[in-house]
Amino acid sequence: MKSSKSKKHVETITVDEGADGVMCDGGMGALGHPAVYYDLEELSESHRVFCGYCNREFVKHK
Ligand SMILES: [Zn+2]
Repeated sequence: MKSSKSKKHVETITVDEGADGVMCDGGMGALGHPAVYYDLEELSESHRVFCGYCNREFVKHK
């Protein structure tokens, strides 16, 4: 019996429009990782950023 870990659940998280950035630590459980901070203003072209650790997508609410 093989357990596959290739299946990644990518979650999209909406960030409040007043926020300059977002902190991600992977949340609780298996996806947890060291806390990182993403600046959404620097990425203002698309207003979204992917967490390099847990692959979550953060989108700034307009
Ligand atoms: Zn993350």
